[in-house]
Amino acid sequence: MHYDAAETLSRSEIEALQLSRLRDTLARAAHSPFYGALFARHHITPDTLHSLDDVRRIPFTAKQDLRDSYPDKLLALPVGEMVRMHASSGTTGTPTAIYHTREDLDWWASLMARCMHMVGLRPTDVFQNMSGYGLFTGGLGIHYGAEKLGCLTIPAGAGNSQRQIKLLMDFKVTGIHIIPSYAMHLANVLREMGIDPRSLPVRIALVGAEPYTEETRGRLEELFDMKVYNSYGLSEMNGPGVAFECQEQRGMHLWEDAYLAEIVDPDTGEPVPDGELGELVMTTLGRRGMPVVRYRTRDMTRFLPGPCPCGREHRRIDRLHGRCDDMMIVKGVNIYPMQIERVLMALPEVGQNYLIVLDNDGAMDRIKVQVEVRAEHFAEDTRVLTALQKKIASRLRDEILVTPKVELVEHNTLPRSEGKAKRVVDNRPR
Ligand code: ADP
Ligand code: ZN
Repeated sequence: MHYDAAETLSRSEIEALQLSRLRDTLARAAHSPFYGALFARHHITPDTLHSLDDVRRIPFTAKQDLRDSYPDKLLALPVGEMVRMHASSGTTGTPTAIYHTREDLDWWASLMARCMHMVGLRPTDVFQNMSGYGLFTGGLGIHYGAEKLGCLTIPAGAGNSQRQIKLLMDFKVTGIHIIPSYAMHLANVLREMGIDPRSLPVRIALVGAEPYTEETRGRLEELFDMKVYNSYGLSEMNGPGVAFECQEQRGMHLWEDAYLAEIVDPDTGEPVPDGELGELVMTTLGRRGMPVVRYRTRDMTRFLPGPCPCGREHRRIDRLHGRCDDMMIVKGVNIYPMQIERVLMALPEVGQNYLIVLDNDGAMDRIKVQVEVRAEHFAEDTRVLTALQKKIASRLRDEILVTPKVELVEHNTLPRSEGKAKRVVDNRPR
């Protein structure tokens, strides 16, 4: 039933394990130039920790600290012991470099295999990884997990939809890893080729690497007749395998034997009350080569209260609301792109892609939402389209409290990127 005994730990067992692993982590991290200096300045030793709450006495590590420590000032072991280096995608600026020892890679692959087993994948499954390989952790990270679990693993990489589809069909692929924006696009390509996506043998999809909504999940499950499980991770914490949905599909279990997680107010750094939205802060509890302590992820989520019906006691986090940096301030109102996606994807006339464009006419912010319309609806006469445009604008206004300009466009006409989708174009003067 479980892949790993760690899945069945009780709360008290998890917390005891976390405290001892956190002490080990501090002892190891102190060997790196960055933490060595930081801990000395703040008089932090493993003995600083009497309980898990004492972690708050340790300063945060920010993305900028990792950038300043580039390339190797966070290494806690000699570089000769490292066997792999990854870097973040650099979505928000200069990438950061993360090193792994052989033991670290085994640990990561086990976490990943645990996630895949939890959603029902088995060694008999054929698994196609459609995310970019290379420095991006969604490639090799997922890949080694799938191999560890024992699946026949196809390293398809990103893009080249015709080839992806041929592989899916020729090898009767039953499990995939795919980013949400690409999955939406792939459904379009299949339809254009006259193939019903539901006719593919795929039954389970691991979907993550960028934010998406419950409405998008619903669409993907319907389009492909498959189960979609949310997968969260970031390079600084290895990559995928940090938090993952179980078959209940109600939030992602964050593996607390491997990570210590906190959720804080992004402005004050103080913990938010349980169940409230804040910034996720994480500490690696198993990485030897390059431990990272109290890392501010910039990702916004909340702990979901109450036990999960699956029985696992690792706490669950909510679907990510996006990064703090994704928040747009339009006419003084705070808006996350996912609020817009939620409205759009709930409307059957809307196609699979959209773009948010911000402008300022010198006096006032303007927000425009370009929306792809399904082919069968785009053919309608202009009165129908105008009515649709009005409906979308009014639903968006209810959600974001600002009335956007809505522009309907033909499907497959908005720009698409091979990796993570760019949802917002901000043309406002800085
Ligand atoms: P970068 O920060 O440069 O994009 P990574 O490739 O390490 O670097 O991506 C990690 C980030 O991707 C996370 O911090 C988060 O913002 C986003 N992400 C990953 N998985 C998800 C998910 N399931 N839902 C929402 N966002 C996600
Ligand atoms: Zn569960």
